[in-house]
Amino acid sequence: MDKDLLKQIKDKLLKEKERLENELLSIADKKEEVANDFDSRFPNWGDDIDSNAAEVDTYSSRLGIEKNLESLLQSTVKALAKIDNGTYGLCEQCGKEIQIERLKVYPAANFCMKCQADKS
Ligand SMILES: [Zn+2]
Repeated sequence: MDKDLLKQIKDKLLKEKERLENELLSIADKKEEVANDFDSRFPNWGDDIDSNAAEVDTYSSRLGIEKNLESLLQSTVKALAKIDNGTYGLCEQCGKEIQIERLKVYPAANFCMKCQADKS
């Protein structure tokens, strides 16, 4: 892969990693023992029934958001590791090169379009 393009992709992935981490930190706490794993924070807005109900609602929506962001973050971190070890851009399923156009749009892609389509 073209070195300049790879550098652009790496920059994009690093920015994305930072963005995802910041978003996660706004609703969750980072776990010390596991990398890239977060625990949603349970809000505390008061002890009356209405506050408690709102806290539970917010906490359950945070859990969903956390799960999505975490999986994006993990793909992003994985892609960065692949850039470092020289396997970036290869499909994890068939081992062929992932289309450049796809990587430009979605740099954390682990599969080529064909394999991704087979999966879903
Ligand atoms: Zn493939």
